[in-house]
Amino acid sequence: MSRVLDEPAASAYGRIMDVPPDPATAPDALTTLRALLRGHRGIGSVVGLSILSSLTEGIGLLIMVPLLLSLEAGDGRAAHYLDILGLSKTQFAMLALGLGFLLVMLRVAINLALNVQRRRLEQDVVDGLRMRIFGALGRAEWRWLSQQRGADHVAAMSTQLGRINAGLYAAIRVLGLLVSIGINLGVALVISWQTALAAILSGGLIAAIFRQQRGRVARLAQQVTPLSNHVHRLGQEGVTQLRLNRLLHRQPAAEAELLAAVQRLRDVQIGHGRDVALIGGAAQLVTAFVAVGLVAFGYALIGLPIGMLLPLLVAIVRIGPMIGGAQDSWNIWVHAAPTVEAVQRLVAQIDAAAEPVAAPDMPRIALDRDIRLSGVTLRYPGRDRPALEGIDCRIDARTTTALVGPSGSGKSTFADLVTGLLAPDEGYVEVDGRVLSGGDRIVWRRSVAYVDQHAMLFNATVRENLLAAVPRASEADLWAALDAASAQFVHSLPAGLDTAIGDDGVRLSGGERQRLALARALLDRPALLLLDEATSALDGDNQAAIADAIAALHGRLTILSISHGGWLLDRADRILRIEDGRLTIER
Ligand code: ADP
Repeated sequence: MSRVLDEPAASAYGRIMDVPPDPATAPDALTTLRALLRGHRGIGSVVGLSILSSLTEGIGLLIMVPLLLSLEAGDGRAAHYLDILGLSKTQFAMLALGLGFLLVMLRVAINLALNVQRRRLEQDVVDGLRMRIFGALGRAEWRWLSQQRGADHVAAMSTQLGRINAGLYAAIRVLGLLVSIGINLGVALVISWQTALAAILSGGLIAAIFRQQRGRVARLAQQVTPLSNHVHRLGQEGVTQLRLNRLLHRQPAAEAELLAAVQRLRDVQIGHGRDVALIGGAAQLVTAFVAVGLVAFGYALIGLPIGMLLPLLVAIVRIGPMIGGAQDSWNIWVHAAPTVEAVQRLVAQIDAAAEPVAAPDMPRIALDRDIRLSGVTLRYPGRDRPALEGIDCRIDARTTTALVGPSGSGKSTFADLVTGLLAPDEGYVEVDGRVLSGGDRIVWRRSVAYVDQHAMLFNATVRENLLAAVPRASEADLWAALDAASAQFVHSLPAGLDTAIGDDGVRLSGGERQRLALARALLDRPALLLLDEATSALDGDNQAAIADAIAALHGRLTILSISHGGWLLDRADRILRIEDGRLTIER
């Protein structure tokens, strides 16, 4: 059944599912952000803490006004304030400095909490999406899954979630910056509304001057993601295809390809870094120039004392870079928002293809009598002819049945129906007289074990591979299963059960992998064992070892074996032949 989800994961990075949003219907970036954050309680604390953090800064600046005024010789207003408070100049200065220090301590504590909350919110949203995709895939109907590109799902869970994470980080930063800008503006307005107004107007002017350059930097930044994805994909493919590249003498070509991609990315990144620094420097110069103008305006035209001008300037000068930062961060989010929509569309699609749900406490189905198929027809979407049509047959419990027929005739589809992976379009499948419908199909699958020609194994130890099927199995259970699968070779492995077997079991021979997969299948004491071309890739000796193991199981459990022919046909109780989706009973 290699046809199911057989895309190599490596190609995922090559086809990032960048479904361009339809501009007519695509929500704007702000709507997407609101929808993404809705229901996450963390957003309230992030906003609240951002306000508190900025307030400590704002109050710190405002305290400087009376402090500086009091130090300014001959200022009548200062003497007036000190009279009201009944404090000497020195007492007031000490008080103001002490308060300033307290505010700094408070801000450090608030920022600590704010950073934790920000991270928590970001992770909540991204992990939530990750679990939604993963969970939805686990519940999706097999027939639907087999029509999909597995690579799209891998990309959604890796590259796309990464992009959403970076975008969300930027969007939350914008929120904090907006709060800060508001508070600093407030401080400026409290000190001198006329100067603040002049500052806002000049700020608007600066923003207009640098708009174009910022746009160019944003476009450069957008090139970084696809280029770095490309580098990532080439690196990953190069590692997974080392063997193939060597066989095809492609290693130098692969290296040249990676080098070219790395250089393109390097150029864009260096260019981006240089432009950011240039614009930042130019903006600083213009801001300093405007600041000098504001001082002149405040001092000469409105007659503001230095004690008020200084804190005012600090507040205003801070706002410039914050506006720039907020714009840049917002651009990052705007770029990530379509990815959020693409992932949400994908989740909705997967959800729509969900299997019926089985009650968690439903007992396993034993298979004491037989499995029956009556009038079963199944069509794959987009195919004119049904893959199986009008199938009627019976498989008796504890017999061995061989399923034969040419490639593409419908054998795997038949096996998927019998094991409950697929539901028929017409007719029904029964186990011991119980029709497999709704959640029963999922419950029945717990009684079925499956071994195919690929012997899918985890990169772990023999023990871990076995325990993946039955986590609570005892040592004796493990050895019993290995014995039943003729897998005594495990005794002579360097660390026995604790020998690591490598990627997909590369450190074992083909026959050993197959017997280990069979042992794992038997460990859960299945009612039905499905062998899908389980020995077709093996040599004679290994086939014989598996044949002996399976022969020993004969009569103990129900076995359905898909094969092109060979040793099992002689031992099978029944032979079913499928041709062009129709079934005949050969024996
Ligand atoms: P076999 O196992 O005998 O090689 P299959 O059961 O895999 O045959 O396939 C039967 C027919 O159904 C073939 O024509 C095959 O192309 C088609 N088919 C199998 N799986 C799918 C699928 N997921 N989507 C569309 N067509 C499929």
